Amino acid sequence: MNAPSLAFNSRILIAEDEPGIADTLQYVLRSDGFSPVWCPTAQEAIAQFSREAPALAILDVGLPDLNGFELFKRLQALPGGAAVPMIFLTARSDEIDRVVGLELGADDYIAKPFSPRELVARVRTVLRRSARAVVSPSAAPPAPMASSAPQPFLLDGERRQIRYYGRALELSRYEYGLLCLFVQRPGRVYTRDELLEMVWDDPGDSFDRTVDAHIKTLRAKLKAIAPEVEPIRTLRGTGYALNEELPATP
Ligand code: CA
Repeated sequence: MNAPSLAFNSRILIAEDEPGIADTLQYVLRSDGFSPVWCPTAQEAIAQFSREAPALAILDVGLPDLNGFELFKRLQALPGGAAVPMIFLTARSDEIDRVVGLELGADDYIAKPFSPRELVARVRTVLRRSARAVVSPSAAPPAPMASSAPQPFLLDGERRQIRYYGRALELSRYEYGLLCLFVQRPGRVYTRDELLEMVWDDPGDSFDRTVDAHIKTLRAKLKAIAPEVEPIRTLRGTGYALNEELPATP
């Protein structure tokens, strides 16, 4: 067992029941300097993850004991789980699977059959993005928070947490990245391209609807706290902005 350290965590958890695919994954990841850990069942993945959180997890949607989406939720609920980026491996290039995965807050998905080189590139991209999502929003000055007007949003960059009307939001990495941007500059209109550019690290791999899917889940979480308030404005054909005039109480 590795001692906790600041060294690069190269551990990649793979939950995949097909040995052939698992072998390929392990091989390409290992040759790229990662330390893959293969788990053929969801139960084993949960046990491994609890023992030591990986840098990233690759989850097959079709596992024998638990489907990948359910496994994702269980892993997210483990201590430190929400901070680990996760990629779904889908058997079909099925739109439903993609949307469900992204709406759950997964970082990416890869459709089988995949090219090993592409897989490693995606893993690297997701790891880079998640490092940036941790660093950049907290590094920006929380200027609007210093204003004297009562603010429904409270940003705690160090804890990567945003409170909304006093309640802590449970946000995925991208929801957090998006909301961080909005909250720091209320009223500023961001185009989808800008959001992809600023919150995602490799916009070439993503699409406008990726932004829309994350905005949708973010809105649902905000609505659950304040059903009457719509803090994120959609500007048709342009993009999104934080509403500058929000009520002081929900
Ligand atoms: Ca499978």
